[in-house]
Amino acid sequence: MSELERLTARLAAVLPPDAVITDPVRLRTYECDGLTVHRATPGVVVLPDGAEQVAAVVRLCGEHGVPFVARGSGTGLSGGALPRTDGVLIVTSRMRRIVEIDIPNRRAVVEPGVTNLAITEAVRDQGYYYAPDPSSQQVCSIGGNVAENSGGAHCLKYGFTVNHVLAAEIVTPDGDIVELSAMDAGYDLLGAFIGSEGTLGIASKITVRLSRAPEAVTTLLAAFTGIEAGGQAVSAIIAAGVVPAAIEMMDALAIEAAEAAVDCRYPAGAGAVLVVELDGPRAEVEHQFAAVERICRDSGAFEIRVAASAEERAAIWKGRKSAFAAVGRISPAYIVQDGVVPRTALPRVLAGIDRLQEEFGIRVANVFHAGDGNLHPLVLFDDSVPGEAERAEIVSGRILDLCIEHGGSITGEHGVGVDKARYMPRMFTGDDLDTMQLVRCAFDPRGLANPGKVFPTPRLCGEAPGVRKGAHPLVEAGLAEQF
Ligand SMILES: Cc1cc2nc3c(=O)[nH]c(=O)nc-3n(C[C@H](O)[C@H](O)[C@H](O)COP(=O)(O)OP(=O)(O)OC[C@H]3O[C@@H](n4cnc5c(N)ncnc54)[C@H](O)[C@@H]3O)c2cc1C
Repeated sequence: MSELERLTARLAAVLPPDAVITDPVRLRTYECDGLTVHRATPGVVVLPDGAEQVAAVVRLCGEHGVPFVARGSGTGLSGGALPRTDGVLIVTSRMRRIVEIDIPNRRAVVEPGVTNLAITEAVRDQGYYYAPDPSSQQVCSIGGNVAENSGGAHCLKYGFTVNHVLAAEIVTPDGDIVELSAMDAGYDLLGAFIGSEGTLGIASKITVRLSRAPEAVTTLLAAFTGIEAGGQAVSAIIAAGVVPAAIEMMDALAIEAAEAAVDCRYPAGAGAVLVVELDGPRAEVEHQFAAVERICRDSGAFEIRVAASAEERAAIWKGRKSAFAAVGRISPAYIVQDGVVPRTALPRVLAGIDRLQEEFGIRVANVFHAGDGNLHPLVLFDDSVPGEAERAEIVSGRILDLCIEHGGSITGEHGVGVDKARYMPRMFTGDDLDTMQLVRCAFDPRGLANPGKVFPTPRLCGEAPGVRKGAHPLVEAGLAEQF
């Protein structure tokens, strides 16, 4: 009997029978996240109903030395929730209670399986909302958002998840339940936990900041003949001191995909569109709108549409929000890449992506958060054509190289997961990675929490041996322990 089988037999003692899934067919439901290229059938799936049950499962994993992986809604795009065949997948879908809404203090306490949008829906009538808005907000969980430090179109002005989480109750990899708060003295452990992709423990309760709904919102769509003119408009808007709530750009191929999928009716002949949203006090929005409209026209916009109602606003956003899925209409398969560059480097990086398209005969549709330089190139390929998937993979990696060369990063908001772990050494030195591993080891010395994610060549704690031979320098210096 394997350790996993022994552990599975004991799970029934801490969880109700319907909360332990071992049926091979049902297990396959959980074999991948939104990045379907990586698949593994989990050894066992559990559906805990609260923090105590999560902690009990994690403690049992510790006793048996079995790895565990947390999963929210499984919409991640970097394989972060990819299960282990020899491990336990802890799914938070039953932990969906909104525990407390505290309007006077502008915060809500929620369980990790609550969807991002459900938080806004719970407080909308009182004039509040939860600001970070991933395009997957209808389905992705707040626990997954915390683990990925997720962003969204409106994070340019309002900041990422890390700026909206006030506290988190976490189950540590030892099975303890502890509270991390932004108000804690000493090191910012809450900050370290946010974006740690399930490697430092499992969030079992999250306190989020609620934002006051703005007095006025104006959304405009500006159409340009090419992406350079759109990019120029973005730079000019920011240079004018305007910080829109969102500035999103789509290139011609992304527009073509959106039209095919949702008939968004963006202006005919557009080589690029900008979606600009301004929000705040009415007088300020009106003043800024005049500036943005003028800048777009001066930069070559041949058509500008302004949403006159909530329906028209939704219509403008429809094309952008559906862009990822829409690409499925014009290509049998595609890779959603995620990288970020300084805003000023955008034209050079986009030109570099164009060169890659030509060199490899692979089409790339660009959809991006132009305001903060967060690119989402969609690398299209036909998996029935021999060699095309491999070429798309190379293009996807070269795009990340371009981001690094231009002072950016290999992930803007989708995390590293299993997919980009191999790119980490292109961005960080061995010493950098060792330092990050020390943080991980402080939380999880046995390396049972989501192993194999984020780090390429683990060398410390309970991780598999890496490429270096001999004693690790940090171990020699007495700064770390090798288990
Ligand atoms: C169509 C589409 C659009 C998207 N748009 C955006 C976007 O605009 N911005 C953006 O940032 N992302 C976007 N994403 C990516 C994805 O939705 C986010 O990364 C999201 O935060 C993942 O949440 P999830 O609940 O699905 O997490 P999962 O995919 O289930 O898990 C993601 C990671 O979080 C960990 N995890 C999950 N729950 C917990 C927990 N309670 N405690 C600790 N770790 C946990 C997992 O182990 C894994 O490493 C998009 C995805 C899709 C499919």
